[in-house]
Amino acid sequence: SIMPATLSAISNGARKGILFKGGVHLENLSHLKAIAFDKTGTLTKGKPEVTDFIVKTGLNHDEILQKAASIENQSTHPLANAVVKYANKHLQVSFIRPEGLEDVAGWGVKAKIGHESWKIGKAAFIGKDEASSFANGIASKLAQEGKTVVFAQRNEEIVAIIALKDVVRTETKDAINQLKKQGIYTMMLTGDSQTTAYAIASESHVNDFIAECLPEEKVNHLKKLKKDYANVAMVGDGINDAPALATANVGIAMGEGTDVALETADVVLMKNDLPKIAEAIELSRRMNKIV
Ligand code: ADP
Ligand code: MG
Repeated sequence: SIMPATLSAISNGARKGILFKGGVHLENLSHLKAIAFDKTGTLTKGKPEVTDFIVKTGLNHDEILQKAASIENQSTHPLANAVVKYANKHLQVSFIRPEGLEDVAGWGVKAKIGHESWKIGKAAFIGKDEASSFANGIASKLAQEGKTVVFAQRNEEIVAIIALKDVVRTETKDAINQLKKQGIYTMMLTGDSQTTAYAIASESHVNDFIAECLPEEKVNHLKKLKKDYANVAMVGDGINDAPALATANVGIAMGEGTDVALETADVVLMKNDLPKIAEAIELSRRMNKIV
């Protein structure tokens, strides 16, 4: 049976916008030693915008943009939405329909337009060497600004670099600092590049980060974190985060996250409110003293 102190802590949490799906999660929160955060949509707002669309010299800018956006129009990734939005603003022509589209989670998208084979995604998706030989320096400069850099390739030739910027939530830094004061080790897990991840992690004040993390690798990193810290939480918002949320001792979902994340999580932050995590831990520690 549920203890009165637990019940009162759960209703206290609900009033503050923290939804506990059971008393056991409050108990687990009180023993928490480390928290892993997803980057996009969790530490950041998750609404990236295209800041730079750089087409290879000599190629037709509008044609490349039209084709890249036509492919991204078939993907549901937040980066894809941003490219489509950008094209709608800058192009007069309409989209065309690509064929054989493959949305490769954690990597990018592949499709055919007529006889052209296209790939849009991270450097490793199109081949790291090709990516670094194209416009050397530009990609790394953009990444140092915390922008996500994506490459568009047509028939083995890199035709464009797309930079996208997603802003760190204004409350992220304070929320993380508060957790660190509580003695909790904080880290970020992301599929993004090392350089971009470094910039976002620094701005967020997390203790550490792991970049170029494939969706299935997030689970392995979480298992490792559990070995090292025993009691670990994961905070995320996306479909891709669900396996890691389930692996953690406490899965915490952003309230405006995807349904799968909300269903899998043990705790839901009703307004995407990261500072509520420290409050929830405080609440659980106080409750534990009473029980
Ligand atoms: P995160 O862990 O940051 O949410 P994902 O695992 O979803 O990122 O994606 C990792 C990387 O794969 C992105 O940073 C991007 O470079 C590339 N990528 C994935 N999907 C797409 C897409 N539809 N268009 C362009 N790039 C993509
Ligand atoms: Mg996310």
